[in-house]
Amino acid sequence: MKIAKVETFPVRIPGQAYMGGHGTDKNAGQMGNYVTHTHYRSSYNLFTESLLVRITTDDGIEGWGEPQSALVAHIVGQLVSELVAPALIGQDPFDRVYLRDRIYNFTRDRGHDAGFMVDAVSACDIALWDIVGKATNKPIYKLLGGTYHKDLPCYVSGVPAETTEEQIEKIRGWVSKGFTRIKLALGFGVQQDAETIRKVREAFGDTIELFVDAHWAYTTDEAVALARHFEKYNVGFMECAINAEDIYSQAALPSAVDIPIALGEEYRTRYHFKERILQRAFDLAQPDIGRLGITEGHRVVNLCDAFGLAVAPHIGAGLAVYTAATLHVAAASPNLRVVEYQPTQMAISEQYFTPSIQPVAGAYAIPQTPGLGVEPNLEKLAPYIVQ
Ligand SMILES: [Mg+2]
Repeated sequence: MKIAKVETFPVRIPGQAYMGGHGTDKNAGQMGNYVTHTHYRSSYNLFTESLLVRITTDDGIEGWGEPQSALVAHIVGQLVSELVAPALIGQDPFDRVYLRDRIYNFTRDRGHDAGFMVDAVSACDIALWDIVGKATNKPIYKLLGGTYHKDLPCYVSGVPAETTEEQIEKIRGWVSKGFTRIKLALGFGVQQDAETIRKVREAFGDTIELFVDAHWAYTTDEAVALARHFEKYNVGFMECAINAEDIYSQAALPSAVDIPIALGEEYRTRYHFKERILQRAFDLAQPDIGRLGITEGHRVVNLCDAFGLAVAPHIGAGLAVYTAATLHVAAASPNLRVVEYQPTQMAISEQYFTPSIQPVAGAYAIPQTPGLGVEPNLEKLAPYIVQ
């Protein structure tokens, strides 16, 4: 079996799956197709933007890949077409791990050991695993060694609303559907974040698990002060408190506080995790399979496991191929804590893929059909493909 064709489908679907918290005052400014919010530094999309990659073999098997590619997905598509595809054509998809490393090596010495280039590699890595699953008639998690879990516990991410009171109402809705793990998107200042968590914890007592995403908003001193407050309200983890590249400051946090410190969504390789493990910069890893791919993501899981660290795979902006890839890696993780669930985004994604992979009553089912277990409806997506 040989790889015959690599195609890219950058999509811009109308509807913005806003995943932040309250108090964001909406747009602080528009920059081309992207916007910033008053309290968050990151750019966000006006659309649901992503990249789908289809790799086809000479005997007609199609594998799908998707990076987490919420910004300039068509540029990542171009990297796939010009730098990755030529190295894949004619190769055996069963050599998927070797191929991922070989293509990564093409640009690592040129300084592209992260960012858009690795996203392009990871998208193709996911598609190759999909092919091998379909060719062997096995779901990908079985190719990774099988599952440690009967289902995959998830948490509801974000809970966007204008006020904490509204958020509490929305959380009540989730609890009534069996979702009792909630992550609030905070990062609005130490006082406001502390107040939000106090109100939510007091509204629910110990009936919910509560997590916090701090959106890289804090200095080490602020993060320590806030985490000490969260300790009193039994926060299950505090995510991304400090600038992503600042290992020295990240490393000061876990030893200073008693709640688990989580990070990892930004990183594209096991080396980024290795440095932070050696510096004891986190307690809980949040590998993003849309950025790492399945091969490297599985390596990160095992690296963390060897150091006694749990993983909570991150799911950000993306569609069902990216989500399904995450579920397979999560299923094959002995050290799984919980998986992220982005309801606003999945509501959009679900319209264009079959079957549904929506979690029910607080857990995702492990996909059991060969490969990833999801297929896009290209006819429905056709109007939104960016040429
Ligand atoms: Mg986050």
